[in-house]
Amino acid sequence: MDPAPENSHPPAADGILLEHDIQRLGRELHGRIKGKSPGIFQASYWKGLLMDGAMRDPSLKTDLFRLVDALPALSTSEEIARHAREYLLADQRSLPMGMGLALRTTQNRIAASISAFVIKRHVRSMAEMFIIGRDARDARAALQKLWNQGFGFTVDLLGEASVSEAESEVYVRRYDDLIEFLPSETARWKPNEILDRGPAGSHPRANISLKLSAMDHLLDPADVEGGVRRLLGRVRPLLWRARDLGAFINFDLEQWSLHEIAFRVFETLAAEPEFASWPHLGIVMQAYLKSADDDLDRLLALAAKRGTPLTVRLVKGAYWDYEFVQSGLIGVPCPVFLKKPETDAHYEHLIRRLLENRDKIHSAFGTHNLRSITVALTLAEKLGLAPGDFELQMLYGMAEAERDMLRNLGHRVRLYTPVGDLITGMAYLVRRLLENTANSSFVRLRHYEHIDIGELLTKPEIPAPSSEEAPKSYDGVLTSPFENCALSDFTNAPVREDFARAVAEAEKQMPWHVPVVVNGRIWPDGEALHHVSPNLNTRLAARTSSATVDDVEKAVRTARTSWPAWRDLPLKKRAKLINNLGARLEADRLRLAAMEVHEQGKPWREADADIAEAVDFCRYYARQALAELGPRTQGNLPGEANTLSYEGRGVCAVIAPWNFPLAILCGMTTAALVAGNAVMLKPAEQATAVAYAFYQHAIAAGIPADMLAFLPGPGEIVGDALVRHRDVVQIAFTGSRDVGLSILKIATEVVPGQSMIKRVVCEMGGKNAIIVDDDADLDEAITGVIKSAFGYAGQKCSACSRVIVVGSCYAPFLARLKAAAASLVPSSAASPDCLLSPVIDEASFTRLRDLLREPIDDAHRVFCGAVKSDGWFVPPAIFEVSDPRHFLMQRELFGPILTVFAARDFSHAIEVANTSDYALTGAVYSRSPSHLEQATLEFRVGNLYLNRPCTGALVNRQPFGGFKMSGAGTKAGGPGYLLHFAEMRVCTENTMRRGFTPEIL
Ligand SMILES: Cc1cc2nc3c(=O)[nH]c(=O)nc-3n(C[C@H](O)[C@H](O)[C@H](O)COP(=O)(O)OP(=O)(O)OC[C@H]3O[C@@H](n4cnc5c(N)ncnc54)[C@H](O)[C@@H]3O)c2cc1C
Repeated sequence: MDPAPENSHPPAADGILLEHDIQRLGRELHGRIKGKSPGIFQASYWKGLLMDGAMRDPSLKTDLFRLVDALPALSTSEEIARHAREYLLADQRSLPMGMGLALRTTQNRIAASISAFVIKRHVRSMAEMFIIGRDARDARAALQKLWNQGFGFTVDLLGEASVSEAESEVYVRRYDDLIEFLPSETARWKPNEILDRGPAGSHPRANISLKLSAMDHLLDPADVEGGVRRLLGRVRPLLWRARDLGAFINFDLEQWSLHEIAFRVFETLAAEPEFASWPHLGIVMQAYLKSADDDLDRLLALAAKRGTPLTVRLVKGAYWDYEFVQSGLIGVPCPVFLKKPETDAHYEHLIRRLLENRDKIHSAFGTHNLRSITVALTLAEKLGLAPGDFELQMLYGMAEAERDMLRNLGHRVRLYTPVGDLITGMAYLVRRLLENTANSSFVRLRHYEHIDIGELLTKPEIPAPSSEEAPKSYDGVLTSPFENCALSDFTNAPVREDFARAVAEAEKQMPWHVPVVVNGRIWPDGEALHHVSPNLNTRLAARTSSATVDDVEKAVRTARTSWPAWRDLPLKKRAKLINNLGARLEADRLRLAAMEVHEQGKPWREADADIAEAVDFCRYYARQALAELGPRTQGNLPGEANTLSYEGRGVCAVIAPWNFPLAILCGMTTAALVAGNAVMLKPAEQATAVAYAFYQHAIAAGIPADMLAFLPGPGEIVGDALVRHRDVVQIAFTGSRDVGLSILKIATEVVPGQSMIKRVVCEMGGKNAIIVDDDADLDEAITGVIKSAFGYAGQKCSACSRVIVVGSCYAPFLARLKAAAASLVPSSAASPDCLLSPVIDEASFTRLRDLLREPIDDAHRVFCGAVKSDGWFVPPAIFEVSDPRHFLMQRELFGPILTVFAARDFSHAIEVANTSDYALTGAVYSRSPSHLEQATLEFRVGNLYLNRPCTGALVNRQPFGGFKMSGAGTKAGGPGYLLHFAEMRVCTENTMRRGFTPEIL
């Protein structure tokens, strides 16, 4: 669903909601809790100190919370003490009350173990403030104690991050166990007339909050149908049991990307005949979402359809930072409000809508904010609701004074009580610490900043948008600053539908017929090349006329003759044409991406990203050209004027690969063109159709036909003829190491009639490693490795093919990695749920299949996945080796094959990672600041990524390219790249005439 446009939300709850009454009640409630702070702020020495430090110093807060997050992964006292020193003593910061001194002495072993013990004990006790037990049985006594104090509960199972089918199944079983256990357990508890009765009559004591992401690790907004189908199969049996045993089930909501799936699962189940009359079913609504009003419309329609009310827990939303950052990174509209008062005002508006529809919806207000609570109470009273007609909910461990006060006033108060172990609990603890210490948090403002109650109760006013926040629209005008082209937002239903339509349409168009084009004239008479779709190898994707050596000759001659006019065209004009080309590609992005889905077997997201990157190259190089290639003055002495300028070199051969069929081809072509060269475009044999579509766009955008020839054909014939041609002065190549090195060699041989030294911009392969440190977040490391190694079947030059795992986390990492890899069922890239796409062609398929067929000496095959036979599908495979020089650790295989190596320690891991002929990309998953720093200095690759996958470089943000045998050190999409395509000239004029110079007149 589309988020509503910015600032389109309705006015705050005026009308019947009387501000005067809110203020009066708010002050009265405040009076009842005055002087009482939540446990987290008043607690013992360590907790008080920690929270105080975090409030005062944002950098200390970050470091403290990062330390807390890393703790469960640290197995020895030395490790805990080292991490504490690295995080807390950073930048010579002075810590309160001698903590600094204490930490410094932890170099000593005994001191280290004492400190580690103290740190762990205190962090554990902080976690216990928010987490009620390891599991429901462990939490039994604490839950009953809460009940006896007059509080209901809803149990949440911690540990949302599941990375495999097996882990998802474990969560489903844990929920099942919870549903089995809680109703019988709670049946014995003493009656409580407020908690035992709800608006629907008798109310279940057992209340369980489900997190859907825990039950399916493959949820993806691009594949709503698939996610819904799988979840229905898992959640329906849970609801049967809950209904039969007498438990209430609430659906929690998580990130926006999963919102539609969660809503659809809820809507489907709630309307099914077996649940339609069951009232004990609820869902969360997040008021910070711009879509929340629409969400409520959907729920009202659902309740009307069922004829039985549903419960809605209204919260503000727990993922604000994530949504804000994530939408910015991929360039899609932010789904949440950007200003806190907007969320607050929207919350109040939704309170009113919920209460006004109490015949259809039972409300539960989940907030710790006194103003929000007061609005709910005031409005409920005005509408004639009694305290038991709605619920107030709070998180266990937060706002204890408020919850006690509300219970004492006779309200039904329910606490959200998570259960889980220390490892999964740490992530939850950090979220709570962040929430408590956020600058805008009500809890912080009231209990730490001691803001006046008048201010705290102020009606939230929706601020006018500031100019930085005004929605940006990329106008594409050359003078506007560069911005990355947004990726397709698959959370948006029309985007998904359009993409699916384009994929279906492209399939009908196959096979594409691709000609040779020289000087705008089509030459269809070369030998035919046939390329089948990797998804279905009986289906011809493209039939291509191959260029001949004569075609090459014609094209180079034409270009050589006409080229000076292009070279001398004002730079701005060339830049404009390239910028226009970007606009054309963007406008046609769906069709182009759909072609890649079929021609190269690229999954939806990969194909979409390839087109976006091509657009980026056009826009970026157009702007870089103006910044870097324009004339400039050097030196400033009187009597002399020095002008430095650049010009094109001549005819450039662009020899492109198939794996990024549009982006790389477009990047090399536009760089050469904008710098003032003519281009002989030689696409890969497996990517001619999409390349031809690009060529047509380039001509339509205004690139002169004699400056761009389209010369598909075999590399050995067409590529070779271009590289050897005496008038081809520049070669831009991306591809294999063997071909790259042979081009470099040929380019150094001067042939008769050659007038320029050939220059080669050459990007070759990689044998990229990811290091997983022993303190890494394994949830993230496994997801990152799977994405980097198996995304597009491992056929990216940036793909990970070696994982080097440090120390004690080897065994758990490998076990979870294997389980995660088992989800990689091969399927056609045309399907939105494709996780493992085919390899590009029969030659790749045969090479990789033969490799996997026989045992490999000195390597242990840990995993080999499923086979599919109707396309070029290679099963994903994982090997273990103990020799860093094993060919599996050295040779680029370009397929879904991953090798794992156990390193003694972090330095050994870096040494092994660097034991490679290549130096393209690499990544490190670690939570040790000193190890991240060491990697930055010593892990020698062109693109190093810390705590994220090693694929997915973006133009401008991550200029891409490697060194050693990965390339000659050029960085595509970065500063300086265009200079490789131009000649620098300097003109010096003596400005002195007869003893006078204009500069000193
Ligand atoms: C019982 C219960 C269950 C919950 N279940 C869920 C759930 O399933 N899913 C979920 O997402 N959350 C859930 N939450 C968490 C809840 O979202 C947070 O605890 C809550 O947002 C804190 O809000 P507040 O009203 O207590 O505090 P306040 O301090 O008034 O509000 C803080 C909230 O304001 C919003 N905010 C912060 N900065 C900005 C900004 N710059 N612009 C716009 N908005 C901003 C954020 O939502 C932030 O959490 C639940 C909370 C409770 C009490």
